[in-house]
Amino acid sequence: PLTTNDLIEDHRICVCVRARPLNKKELTTKDLDVITIPSKDVVMVHEPKQKVDLTRYLENQTFRFDYAFDENSTNEMVYRFTAQPLVETIFERGMATCFAYGQTGSGKTHTMGGDFSGKNQDCSKGIYALSARDVFLMLRKPNYKKMDLQVFATFFEIYSGKVFDLLNRKAKLRVLEDGKQQVQVVGLQERDVKCTEDVLKLIEMGNSCRTSGQTSANAHSSRSHAVFQIILRRRGKMHGKFSLIDLAGNERGADTSSADRQTRLEGAEINKSLLALKECIRALGRNKPHTPFRASKLTQVLRDSFIGENSRTCMIATISPGMASCENTLNTLRYANRVT
Ligand code: ADP
Ligand code: MG
Repeated sequence: PLTTNDLIEDHRICVCVRARPLNKKELTTKDLDVITIPSKDVVMVHEPKQKVDLTRYLENQTFRFDYAFDENSTNEMVYRFTAQPLVETIFERGMATCFAYGQTGSGKTHTMGGDFSGKNQDCSKGIYALSARDVFLMLRKPNYKKMDLQVFATFFEIYSGKVFDLLNRKAKLRVLEDGKQQVQVVGLQERDVKCTEDVLKLIEMGNSCRTSGQTSANAHSSRSHAVFQIILRRRGKMHGKFSLIDLAGNERGADTSSADRQTRLEGAEINKSLLALKECIRALGRNKPHTPFRASKLTQVLRDSFIGENSRTCMIATISPGMASCENTLNTLRYANRVT
C-alpha cells in the first residue's frame, strides 16, 4: 500500500486513478470485476477472473499514473496524495485545482463532496471538507497567522455552458472578461468562513440547491460541473485560490447522437469542456503561454488557475470496476493518460 514515502514532491500536475468496489446493483446483475491495481501506480483492465464463456471480451490493458488507489482506499488516503499537497500552494500565493473525472456512478461525488447517496448525507469526509479542514489548520501556523489572511468559499455549477450560483438559489450568473484578461463571474456569492463547520454547512446547502427540483440527483449532476472554491484574501486582495471540481459524467459526451435536441446540445457542451480542460492542463504542464481557456465556460472561469508561475493541479480519474462499464472505464483511463 501507499505510504507517505511514496509522495511525489512538487510536481505541477498529478494524475491518479481511483477504483471503487462493485456496488449492490453490479453484484445483483452479476457484473464481474475487470480492474486490478497490482501496485501503487498501475491499473490493469482485463478479462474477468471468473470467465463466463470462452469469448474474449477484452484485451488486457495496463496504465500507469502518479498513483493508483484500489477499492479499499479511503477518501482520507486519496486526499493525502492529491489535494492535500496543494493546500500549501494557496498559502504561497498560488492557484490550485483538483478535478474528479469519470463516468456517472464511478465515485466523483463520493470522493469530492462526501457521500450524498440514499440516507447518507455526510459531507465531512469528502475532499472539499478535508481541504477546508487543512486550510484552517494551516492558518494557525505562526508564519501564516501573522499574514492576516481571510478565508472565503464559493460554490457554483456549470450547466450547458451557463453558470449558476449554488449559494444563492441557483441564480444565473454572467461571466465577463475585462481588458486585462481577468475573468469575472458577476455577482458570485463569496461567503466568509471561519471554521470547517461553516464550510460543511455551505457544502450541504449548495448540494441541496444543486439537486432541488430534480427527479434524480444523479441525472442532473451527470450533466453539470460543480465547482467549489476556497479563496484566501489578504487586505481584500486575492492571495490564493483552491478550486475543487466535480465534473460532469464523461459518458455524456456520447449524447451527441441522442434523438433529443436538448440532450444532444448538453452532450456537445460537455464534450467541448472536457476536451478544453485536457488541453488547458497540458498547456500548464508544458509552460505554454497560450492556454485555450476560451474554448469552454468551464475553462474560462478557471482561467486564472491555468496561468501563472505558481499553479498546480491534480486529477482524480474515478472508475467503476464492472465489466459492464469497461468501455467508459477505458475512455476515462485514456483521457487521464493524455492529460500530462
Ligand atoms: P458519481 O458522482 O461519479 O456519479 P457517486 O460518487 O455518486 O458517483 O458514486 C456512486 C455510488 O457509489 C454512490 O452510492 C457512492 O456512495 C458509491 N461509491 C462511490 N465511490 C465509492 C467508494 N470508493 N467506496 C464505496 N462506495 C463508493
Ligand atoms: Mg456525482
